[in-house]
Amino acid sequence: MNLNDDKNLKFLGDMPADEFRKFGYQLIDWISEYLENVEKYPVLSNIKPGDIRKQLPTSPPANSEDMEKILSDVDKIILPGVTHWNHPRFMAYFNSSSSGPGILAEMLTAAFNSNGMLWRTNPSSAELEQHTLQWLRQMLGMPEGFWGIIYDTASTASMHAIAAARQQAGIHVREKGLAGRNDIPKLRLYASEQAHSSIDKSAITLGLGLDSLKKIPTDIEFRMLPNELEKAINEDKKNGWLPFCVVATVGTTSTTSIDPVESIADICERENIWLHVDGAHGGMAAIIPEMQWVLKGTERADSFLVNPHKWLFHPVDITAFYTRKPDILKRAFSLVADYLKTPEGNIVDNYMDYGIQLGRRFRSLKLWFVIRYFGVEGLQDRLRYHLYLGKEFTKWVDAYPDFERMAPVPMSTICFRLHPQNINNDNELEKLNQHFFNVLDSSGDILVSHTRLNGKYVLRVNMSGLRMELKHIEKAWQIIKGKAEEVINSYTTKK
Ligand code: PLP
Repeated sequence: MNLNDDKNLKFLGDMPADEFRKFGYQLIDWISEYLENVEKYPVLSNIKPGDIRKQLPTSPPANSEDMEKILSDVDKIILPGVTHWNHPRFMAYFNSSSSGPGILAEMLTAAFNSNGMLWRTNPSSAELEQHTLQWLRQMLGMPEGFWGIIYDTASTASMHAIAAARQQAGIHVREKGLAGRNDIPKLRLYASEQAHSSIDKSAITLGLGLDSLKKIPTDIEFRMLPNELEKAINEDKKNGWLPFCVVATVGTTSTTSIDPVESIADICERENIWLHVDGAHGGMAAIIPEMQWVLKGTERADSFLVNPHKWLFHPVDITAFYTRKPDILKRAFSLVADYLKTPEGNIVDNYMDYGIQLGRRFRSLKLWFVIRYFGVEGLQDRLRYHLYLGKEFTKWVDAYPDFERMAPVPMSTICFRLHPQNINNDNELEKLNQHFFNVLDSSGDILVSHTRLNGKYVLRVNMSGLRMELKHIEKAWQIIKGKAEEVINSYTTKK
């Protein structure tokens, strides 16, 4: 058939409704069973690089394949290569676990398939986003006056914050760019040594360069030192730099340390520097009234973010970003092509004006489903439970003579290392702990991550998964302790 053969072309359309219904029910059954039994899978698959691709045909199928076959290949090919983030002994990174209401909302998002670039391209999406973000702001105990937008990830959100800060600096980057200019000073961005690598990536993406990012030292609890920040700003000003943005972190990636945002806000206000607070994981703790102190000072920030896909049981991806200066963000990004002009004009917020994306998923549906289904108190209690698990785990680590805890535990992330009494050489300890880490993760029984603190290699576990119960943490502890003993014994025998 070719394009001149129009007569023979016929409408083909979508999967028939009855087929969709049949496989839809089948898939829901599959997902229910999977989530109920997720514990039976190895947390980290033991697949080798290339193993999945080997099983896939080199070219796409020319003809329709049976849905039964596609679904059975999920079991056969995909499942063995999945790392199970919903597993109750997934203790690595910041555990993103998805919940029933979140998954259902995602289905609806896909079914509507609306593109919320303009208010009119889906008024429900635009208004639900504004509204649910205000709910979440209230839950965090943050004051009115913060306007919200959903971005895909914290990395993207921080990049937008830093771009808005650059806009505020008044150096007309939007029009003139940065390259080849000798009419402006070099821009300086500040974050602590413990800030997430997404801040470095923002510096790269925004054409500031990594040299523009000054890492401020931290205290013994890994919190930014405000006097060091102040010193750096003063020095930079003397040397002709233009300080324009500070990123503070509430819940750093390695240890969940909390930067002293109040003191940092004092400096930023005095110096007229944009303050952005990255609370991707840790900021969410503020939904618990007795933990609201973690965001103290953030009410004075120009912008902040939290990630419902980290510690609020939303399927990846959703980051809630707030700013007191949406007009500046808009000035940085709004560009309305003729075909995007709408009769509503400025009476409505068109979210495409506040970022690099035009097309936007209907992500607020999951925020709406999750908050309503669990209720604020239900969510608070789930996070409280994680803090309790964190406390228990900390006690066990502290009581075990061959473990050394490497950082305070303000939330439910614990950093520790194997440190048998007869080994005091840091190189040996590093090798021992790297080996210990590999033994744990390759067991498939548990997934932990690692980080480096004061130059030392340490293991890190986090408790924020929706399905984690005390019994899972107890079992995790038995596994960790058992493997630690094996590792120490084999080390001592080799010696
Ligand atoms: N900020 C902090 C403090 C983080 O810990 C992380 C990831 O763990 C990020 C930002 C990046 O998150 P995302 O994957 O949403 O970009």
